[in-house]
Amino acid sequence: MTIVAKESSNPHSSPGTFREIPSVTDAVEHVSSVAAPTFSPSALIGLTQRVLACARGEIASGMPLTREVILQRIIDDLTAMERPRLAPLLNATGIIIHTNLGRAPVSAETAGAMTSAASSYVPLELDPKSNARGGRMNELSNLIQLLTGAEATLVVNNNAAAVLLTLSAIAFDKEVIVSRGEAVEIGGGFRIPDVMRQSGAVLVEVGATNRTYARDYQNAITARTAAILKVHQSNFRIEGFTAFAPIEELVEVGNAANIPVINDLGSGALLDVSQFGLASEPTIQQSIDTGVSIVTASGDKLFGGPQAGIICGEARFVREIERHPLARAVRADKTCLAGMAATLRHYLRDDAVERIPVWRMIAASETELRRRAEAIFSGLPRISESVKIVPSKATTGGGSLPGEEMQSWALSIGAVNGKPVHEVALALRKGQPRVFGRIHEDRLLLDLRTILPEDDQQLGEAIKAATAGH
Ligand SMILES: *Cc1c(COP(=O)(O)O)cnc(C)c1O
Repeated sequence: MTIVAKESSNPHSSPGTFREIPSVTDAVEHVSSVAAPTFSPSALIGLTQRVLACARGEIASGMPLTREVILQRIIDDLTAMERPRLAPLLNATGIIIHTNLGRAPVSAETAGAMTSAASSYVPLELDPKSNARGGRMNELSNLIQLLTGAEATLVVNNNAAAVLLTLSAIAFDKEVIVSRGEAVEIGGGFRIPDVMRQSGAVLVEVGATNRTYARDYQNAITARTAAILKVHQSNFRIEGFTAFAPIEELVEVGNAANIPVINDLGSGALLDVSQFGLASEPTIQQSIDTGVSIVTASGDKLFGGPQAGIICGEARFVREIERHPLARAVRADKTCLAGMAATLRHYLRDDAVERIPVWRMIAASETELRRRAEAIFSGLPRISESVKIVPSKATTGGGSLPGEEMQSWALSIGAVNGKPVHEVALALRKGQPRVFGRIHEDRLLLDLRTILPEDDQQLGEAIKAATAGH
């Protein structure tokens, strides 16, 4: 919403002079009369002073500002600050786990569990039966054990924290063997060699970037070796002449030397994606089954829950990790734990594919996506030439299944009603709700795979609003 300042320029002044700058009192009074601000008087004064100071600087450097423009800036700043930035938006990018858009949206049940935990007291560390202290992880440990076979679980802030904490607790001042092809950057500044250094562990790289064999690990074992680390290649794929030792062989090497194998899975799926025609990605239970000592994974990638890091596996190692001082610094709060438990219950009830948004999106059939695109299209006014329905390719994104694409359908929008494509895209990003798509060959693509069916109508309305004439 734009509210235009009604006050006209001061007749005794001219643009670009300091006389154009209103007093704080005048400005606040004006803004209060036209914009019905919800901010407290002191916040409003603070915001006004900030805008006026900035205007003073601009006028000093020769900008032709007018009183009207300055007053409008205060109103614009106020309106922008009153609107929460992290409000729900429609992700039409076709990237399901979009890190910049907040990764996995959670199910309605999970969101409900998080809201009620947030707004009330919960028996977080008190056992209702005995009234004794402890048991913060009991519920999650139980659920994860049932689903994956892992003896014990610790949930922390995110997977980066899970890896850092695990290495700090198990390998401080000792050596960790990693394949050269896996000493990688996962994205957002998470580099295995840096995390390793931060944890105090010494990285021992083995093999070549494209090939690492079990014997490479075996030959690198010394008296100082604390662990073997296997990192899932979650955001890239090395193709061609490659070989990576299967995790089972690493477990054999580790067992023979009494050294734990840590498997950083990244994505942490509990369902096999290959049932939806995607390349197989190891699930947490498969990894535990191979006999690794510790698995680490994200809560908000294919797991489909809130931001979290899952550390699960052999109880003796999980206990050791739990006791490390860093564990307290990266621990998950009650909202996260309640959300993780609610998400896990979907897998236990076997309704994840119907209820968890990322799985609903992965499981949606191409026919269904096309039908929905057509239904939205038919609800649009006659802007026929500008909007088309086109096949598209969606991805899981966010550090899972690199290079894997899913067939999808999209609404493709070209220049319309005198608006070039980038203006339509901007109007959609600024709308309520905001809509993010992707530009491809000078068309804006709105991919249906990352839109849930219950949001189709909102998407249609948003397109109507953004494509309407000036
Ligand atoms: C995504 C990822 C991480 C980082 O997890 P966050 O939950 O983003 O902290 C670490 N390792 C792997 C292999 C990943 O894919």
